[in-house]
Amino acid sequence: MPPLDVPALVLRNTHLSPDYNVLHFEAPAIAAASLPGQFVMIRTAAGTDPLLRRPFSVFEIIRDTAGSPAGISVLCKRIGPGTARLYDAAAGDRLSVLGPLGRPFSLVSPPAEAWMVAGGVGLAPFAALTEALQGTGARARLFYGGRTRADLFYLDWFASRGVTLDLATEDGSLGAHGRVTEPLDDALRARAPGLAVTLYACGPEPMLKAVAGLARTHGCPSQLSTERVMGCGLGGCYSCVVRVRDAGGTPRFVRSCLNGPVFNGDDLVWE
Ligand SMILES: Cc1cc2nc3c(=O)[nH]c(=O)nc-3n(C[C@H](O)[C@H](O)[C@H](O)COP(=O)(O)OP(=O)(O)OC[C@H]3O[C@@H](n4cnc5c(N)ncnc54)[C@H](O)[C@@H]3O)c2cc1C
Repeated sequence: MPPLDVPALVLRNTHLSPDYNVLHFEAPAIAAASLPGQFVMIRTAAGTDPLLRRPFSVFEIIRDTAGSPAGISVLCKRIGPGTARLYDAAAGDRLSVLGPLGRPFSLVSPPAEAWMVAGGVGLAPFAALTEALQGTGARARLFYGGRTRADLFYLDWFASRGVTLDLATEDGSLGAHGRVTEPLDDALRARAPGLAVTLYACGPEPMLKAVAGLARTHGCPSQLSTERVMGCGLGGCYSCVVRVRDAGGTPRFVRSCLNGPVFNGDDLVWE
């Protein structure tokens, strides 16, 4: 199905911290078509500044009282002009939202478990993934790291959906002291013999590379959501290319907006 471009009503803007917010949009058709791991391109302002849309993972699928998809939310981290405008958006604003776009995660089924690994705003694709996994019945675990405890959000949301949380902060203020890949490595070593685990990861590229390495070491498949800077989201501008190995093992460039943002960890060639 081709992506939809809708003037989506901002229903709510929840500020989680001085840098993070969650924007709720009324967008029933996009919500109904979205799969976990897909993204939308948002025109962050009505005029031409900034000119280009910005990509955001679909965070939550919002449902009405009958359970039908009514909208989506996005989790935003303010880093520049586009995300600053989204931080300041107000209920009642309308922003152009294009999507859903990109290749989604594939879901595991029991007895395999889904272990999600999020670094900072890399949490964004995992709320929708958690809800989809509830449909398969696969057990889910979230390894979630940030710089300090103030950078970790939605912990109760995940816990209330039966997700086991393994937290890590670089200053040791919550969970393990250090990088999120450390508790992940410990858990992979300690897992029951024969337990099949698929790793799902989203976060900074060094974290994705480390997760791909752990997946290889421990014999698990991995699905990594890359966040390359992206100009159009539709394959036209070639700004988001990543290097992957094709079936014969030869490296080639592909556009992450079309072939990703989710890639098998074994296919990515790291710079
Ligand atoms: C598929 C995809 C999904 C994404 N999902 C989310 C999400 O759910 N929530 C969220 O907050 N962000 C997400 N991002 C990143 C987000 O799109 C950028 O942070 C945003 O475009 C920055 O726009 P800006 O105008 O605020 O800053 P800009 O002025 O565009 O950028 C400010 C600085 O950040 C750097 N930068 C810009 N984009 C990225 C990027 N993608 N990765 C690393 N550095 C970057 C720039 O080089 C520049 O130095 C996603 C990106 C992709 C490609």
